Amino acid sequence: MDGPSGKGGSNVDTFLPNYKLGKTLGIGSFGKVKIAEHALTGHKVAIKILNRRKIKNMEMEEKVRREIKILKLFMHPHIIRLYEVIETSTDIYVVMEYVKSGELFDYIVEKGRLQEDEARHFFQQIISGVEYCHRNMVVHRDLKPENLLLDSKCNVKIADFGLSNVMRDGHFLKTSCGSPNYAAPEVISGKLYAGPEVDVWSCGVILYALLCGTLPFDDENIPNLFKKIKGGIYTLPSHLSAGARDLIPRMLVVDPMKRMTIPEIRQHPWFQAHLPRYLAVPPPDSMQQAKKIDEDILQEVVKMGFDRNQLVESLSNRKTNDGTVAYYLLLDNRFRVSSGYLGAEFQESMECNFTRMHSVEAATSAIGHRLPGYVDHQGIGLRTQFPVERKWALGLQSRAHPREIMTEVLKALQALEVCWKKIGHYNMKCRYSRFPGSHEGMVNTTVHGNHYFGDESAIVEDDGVGRQTNVVKFELQLYKTREEKYLLDLQRVNGPQFLFLNLCAAFLAQLRVL
Ligand code: ADP
Ligand code: MG
Repeated sequence: MDGPSGKGGSNVDTFLPNYKLGKTLGIGSFGKVKIAEHALTGHKVAIKILNRRKIKNMEMEEKVRREIKILKLFMHPHIIRLYEVIETSTDIYVVMEYVKSGELFDYIVEKGRLQEDEARHFFQQIISGVEYCHRNMVVHRDLKPENLLLDSKCNVKIADFGLSNVMRDGHFLKTSCGSPNYAAPEVISGKLYAGPEVDVWSCGVILYALLCGTLPFDDENIPNLFKKIKGGIYTLPSHLSAGARDLIPRMLVVDPMKRMTIPEIRQHPWFQAHLPRYLAVPPPDSMQQAKKIDEDILQEVVKMGFDRNQLVESLSNRKTNDGTVAYYLLLDNRFRVSSGYLGAEFQESMECNFTRMHSVEAATSAIGHRLPGYVDHQGIGLRTQFPVERKWALGLQSRAHPREIMTEVLKALQALEVCWKKIGHYNMKCRYSRFPGSHEGMVNTTVHGNHYFGDESAIVEDDGVGRQTNVVKFELQLYKTREEKYLLDLQRVNGPQFLFLNLCAAFLAQLRVL
């Protein structure tokens, strides 16, 4: 394998002990982008290798630093994540989220123009990523299909923030940049410009390219191309729907002040059609996101040999080190595989899960069996359990601190004389009897401890449905949703369904939900 600067692989190994470098994924303006495997977690990453000499020659060190600074802060399902940056005397290695399926550009070239639904799916994701950038005071400024990558599920990931600039209120950005075909008129005219509107223009060009398979402004002769862009001269093909015909021209308005804004795009009926629920809510603030630490992932990283307190401190202060890199890789990949409650795949289907209280569904569907993966508190396996076709649900969600929620929940269970065994901080095996006081061998203890004694195996393995018609066994689990809310899930293990429903009703009343 050749090194990033034509050196042998061994040099790279000493600089990148945590990664196994693989094949080249793409060639960027300053060097290659290679695939690599993160040794600790086994997850794949993409490493952009920037040659310092080349950067210096092009006097673009600033551009690179900017990209790194910006991407490091961002966490959004449609923006490439940056995990860490490793600098050596000759190169800068930018370790990023790896996406499998290449560039949106190649996708359009291969497929030609897309059907409106597919184009809209991409467009909605792009707009949500761009909106997130703007909210965090960043204008991308080089949005084009080459910089929009696709993951294995055909989700867009915005890449290449090299030309981005941080918006400062009251200041205008002066640098002209980007590809001419996608650049806004005010950009190619070298006028002072404020920012977000230039991304809207590029998104308009991208939307056109998605729906038409061609560029709205194109000419081999650059002065002619500029003329077309500055004059806003393009044609709309007749196959476009009325909605698209209305939206595109509003985005490709030459006067940046009259151009549609991202909030206006969001309101447009064409954009709103089939809008996945997770994209319908405003994106979270990146600083807010950093404050939340996932306990399960934290424990996994601690198991790898990292100090817990140090890790928490680094995560809270947004420091980057081996521990935090492992943490974020696990976090992102967990979201990717789970596609359950917390999945970052963000399919609309999955969004329905957020408001469910599974107890009711569980009680009304073929139950009695605990499906594989249920106890996996990361949500993996939930999809098999709760197929996406289910249309209705009853939900119990809270924004309170998870420990407070659990205290309330356990108090309510105690009041209902439910016995439980603690499996984890947020997971209990429970047993409820129609005739309180009949739990042989069980004793109520404190709210935080186990509320259950006796033959532990009886609670899971004993199917005793026939024999114990007055006893229902269920599991209770608190999940964290992507929206930083917590979702309580009650799942019947065995026992009469109506008894379980009665219990659920009493439980909701106890929590003063009903
Ligand atoms: P440049 O600033 O030089 O344009 P990019 O960041 O756009 O560099 O990367 C160049 C190419 O490398 C991309 O167009 C893409 O094909 C590939 N690439 C970049 N980042 C990734 C990634 N995270 N996963 C997979 N491929 C990538
Ligand atoms: Mg690029």
